[in-house]
Amino acid sequence: MPGRSTITVHADREVHPRRAVAPPIHQTAAFSAEDAQTFADAAVERRGSDFYTRFGNPNHAQVAAVVAALENTEAAMVTASGMAALTTAVLALVSAGDHVIGQRSTYGGTASVLLNLLPRLGVSTTLVDQTDPDAFANALTPRTRLILVETPSNPLLRITDLRAVAGPARAHNVVTMADNTFATPLNQRPADFGIDLVWHSATKYLNGHADVSAGVLAGPAELLDRVWNVGLLTGATLGPVDAWLLLRGLRTLPLRVPRHNANGQALAQALSKHPAVAGVHYPGLASHPQHRLATDQMSGFGGVLGIEFTGGFETADAFLGALQYPRRSAGLGGVESLAVHPASMWRGMLSEQQIGEAVPPGLIRLAAGIEDTADLVADVLAAADAVSATDTKEPVR
Ligand SMILES: *Cc1c(COP(=O)(O)O)cnc(C)c1O
Repeated sequence: MPGRSTITVHADREVHPRRAVAPPIHQTAAFSAEDAQTFADAAVERRGSDFYTRFGNPNHAQVAAVVAALENTEAAMVTASGMAALTTAVLALVSAGDHVIGQRSTYGGTASVLLNLLPRLGVSTTLVDQTDPDAFANALTPRTRLILVETPSNPLLRITDLRAVAGPARAHNVVTMADNTFATPLNQRPADFGIDLVWHSATKYLNGHADVSAGVLAGPAELLDRVWNVGLLTGATLGPVDAWLLLRGLRTLPLRVPRHNANGQALAQALSKHPAVAGVHYPGLASHPQHRLATDQMSGFGGVLGIEFTGGFETADAFLGALQYPRRSAGLGGVESLAVHPASMWRGMLSEQQIGEAVPPGLIRLAAGIEDTADLVADVLAAADAVSATDTKEPVR
């Protein structure tokens, strides 16, 4: 087996081979065929790339080949965003009367699908505490069709025991689907633990340059065929240029992720010792309550950390304002460091109570980019010093 970097550079070589070293952009809405039979064949080729771009495009197929190779799955497909990957899969896999299990700590969009969209369509949902490995199996009912997990979770970096979810689900014929956005296939491959479908907001690490919205799904061809059939109807098609940019970003994933891991670890360690900080949520810290589980199923811990300030809401917001490099943004996974204060970002979206249940008011989600580690560490320590100085009215050293 070649290494990850080799796979990432060459796994799409036989997809629409051309003499161009860089893949051409197939900026076309439709493809033509020589004769009726060829055309009819192209129309039914699942995740094909020669019929109509909503059905598939060579630029999609190239990304899919690389993602499937990295995730160690039979196949993959590309969607217009991470949320399109999730909703298309969910619509393909469940019907009115079915039951879906999800996590309490999960990406906001996923939470809305579980709490609002699915119940409105007659699908019941149960949200469990992912840190209890038995919680998923205990929530199974005869109507359960799907389990949605996310590990590490956004923004609290809680870990889900993938084996403990996949085993019982498989025994009950329940499809499991893991959001692998935070980990990336470089740090964790859910399919290796028995998870059926792996999905990503490719907007984040896979693309890595904060210039594309995209999603991917990886898994067995038979399951993806079902999702693809519904994808034709939801029509959340990634544009060929964006697919081309995504492939270009993907090529350097194996180079970028180790730096994100190193920066995440260094920032977590530095901040966890700072007096202004009540605690750091990062699975790479020995103090993380699930550090052993994280070490067992991950080979690196990623660039995202949650920092909780003793001073609460105001201190967290002031810390964000005092940072030199990370800018205030909801994004993550790109080459540049970004940070967000969820409790203030959600003020217009959620009630005080909903915010209080989802995140501590003093939490900052910091997504380390690929800048030099020493520069980022100096920056966050200076910002933490600045806010503890205003907290105590005198500099803390
Ligand atoms: C951003 C994100 C999503 C949603 O992806 P989009 O590409 O923005 O639709 C889903 N899951 C996680 C963990 C995310 O961070």
